[in-house]
Amino acid sequence: MSVETARFATTAVHAARNHAPAASRATPVYLTAGFEFEDFDHAADHFGSGDGFGYSRTGNPTVRAVERQLAALEGGADALLLASGQAAVATALLSVAGAGDHIVASEHIYEGSRGLLVDNLARLGIETTFVDDIADPEAWRSALRPSTRALFAESIANARNDVLDVSAIAAVADAAAIPLIVDNTLATPYLLRPLERGASIVVHSASKFLAGHGSVLGGVIVDDGRFDAAKAGHNAAHLVLPGRGGAPSVAARHGGLARIAYARASVAPRFGATPSPLNAFLIGQGAETLGLRVERQSRNALAVARWLAEHDAVESVDHVGLPSHPDHDTAVRYLHGGYGSVFTVTLRGGLPAAKSFVEGVRVFTHMTHIGDVRSLVLHPASTSHVLRTAEERERLGIRPGTVRLSIGIEDIDDLIEDLAQVLQPAREVVR
Ligand SMILES: *Cc1c(COP(=O)(O)O)cnc(C)c1O
Repeated sequence: MSVETARFATTAVHAARNHAPAASRATPVYLTAGFEFEDFDHAADHFGSGDGFGYSRTGNPTVRAVERQLAALEGGADALLLASGQAAVATALLSVAGAGDHIVASEHIYEGSRGLLVDNLARLGIETTFVDDIADPEAWRSALRPSTRALFAESIANARNDVLDVSAIAAVADAAAIPLIVDNTLATPYLLRPLERGASIVVHSASKFLAGHGSVLGGVIVDDGRFDAAKAGHNAAHLVLPGRGGAPSVAARHGGLARIAYARASVAPRFGATPSPLNAFLIGQGAETLGLRVERQSRNALAVARWLAEHDAVESVDHVGLPSHPDHDTAVRYLHGGYGSVFTVTLRGGLPAAKSFVEGVRVFTHMTHIGDVRSLVLHPASTSHVLRTAEERERLGIRPGTVRLSIGIEDIDDLIEDLAQVLQPAREVVR
């Protein structure tokens, strides 16, 4: 039988088969479960070494291209793309910690990451201590235990817009021979590259600024490639001890890249949060315009923040670009090219004012997302932070009148006009 003479059903699934090379300038989308082996030895080599492509859960050329792109943008040695930001955070933490281990995390992190730590990783025997005063290195240091395997924080945190003093906290991690893992979702590598300031690992929700258009979910881990087995091996037995059947250790095979190699070969494909190659393509295409978008969004956001800060209906604006923000000086030291575009504004009118705000906007979209080309608004106290107590919310900077804004790339005058119409103290209906 040949494909040319095959019958209908065989023809249907074989006739499109194509081995012709083509130098596609855009990243080709390899939307395939697996890859054909050239011969018997090729298959055996792939399973033995892990090199090349065999099955899309363990590697795919489209995904790989985007990993190279994101590693380069973050100034990292290598990257691992995952199905969502949650998957990236979970995979990063499961690559450094196991049962009996301990993590020190910022109190000011995404609620999903917090839930992962307090509910899911806790059930697996990984304990977390939360640090509230994240600017104080001593607060981090005093939370360390012999079993601590990582520090975890966000470069710019929601809702208070705290900016992490990356170098100071990285120094605490370094002295303990453990990695500082920074969730850089809100800053993006356009504004801040944590690996250049001493962090070891960066994670992102690529669903936000990296993809940028609110159309896909994704996540990424970027590693600095500087794992030092001699210095940190006692905190990473899984990387320095021989593998199953006496195989050479991950560190022996991958050197400084041991952490990300372990995440790629062992954690990610086993837990299985593999990105779709199509989503990877969209993330890669989005990341091509990351700088343009973040520059514009940051400029728009600062203008909106300044305008809001002057408005009678506004009690406070938590935006690090404003000199009144407690972390403004840290932001000046760390953020280049803008101050970010996700921040909160607290209205004097409390809950009723917040309700009429989210229901009254027309250019802004009322939804739970950030980092989109479109401007978005959400009321955290009744949505993302509804499970927290009122006291906890207060500590996190979330009050009944607080709304979170994510500023897009629209024309600034349209954004200000929308805010002006919704903030008019007593909007009279003209009859
Ligand atoms: C959204 C978000 C996440 C989770 O990412 P998903 O892509 O939604 O899974 C993690 N960290 C931060 C800071 C986020 O904003």
